[in-house]
Amino acid sequence: MLKEEKLGKPKRTSLGYEVPIEVVRLILLSLEEILEENAPPTFQMLGRAVGRALGAKDLGEIPEVLRVHKLGLVEISKHSEDRVTVRFKECIGCSGMKDYNEAISQLERGIIAGVLEGATGATVSIKESKCCTQGNDFCEFDAVLMR
Ligand SMILES: [Zn+2]
Repeated sequence: MLKEEKLGKPKRTSLGYEVPIEVVRLILLSLEEILEENAPPTFQMLGRAVGRALGAKDLGEIPEVLRVHKLGLVEISKHSEDRVTVRFKECIGCSGMKDYNEAISQLERGIIAGVLEGATGATVSIKESKCCTQGNDFCEFDAVLMR
């Protein structure tokens, strides 16, 4: 769970705690324009920090932690001690976007890497093998856990 002492407690008695996903996407797309070629590594680093901060204690907690924070719906397939595939639906960045025939989910890639690192203590190498922008209704990430 996210730590209140770092994030504060928003005072939004009228507006509540949620912000429309379109506004979040606008923020991300605007930041991407500002960062230009530095956007992909920046979004990956940002995602890793966010993923680690979510505080999942093991692989089994990850789907619930991501769902509770409305970051997405994930299914984890464990192939061996050091290899997992994470299918990610309803992600912030690209669910429902038009097809680009290119995997674009740098933020989600980082979030998955970070939450896996936090949950396992491993260093995670990760790539996006399928993306919503390639005609899928999910993104999929292949991760290697290095201890
Ligand atoms: Zn994607």
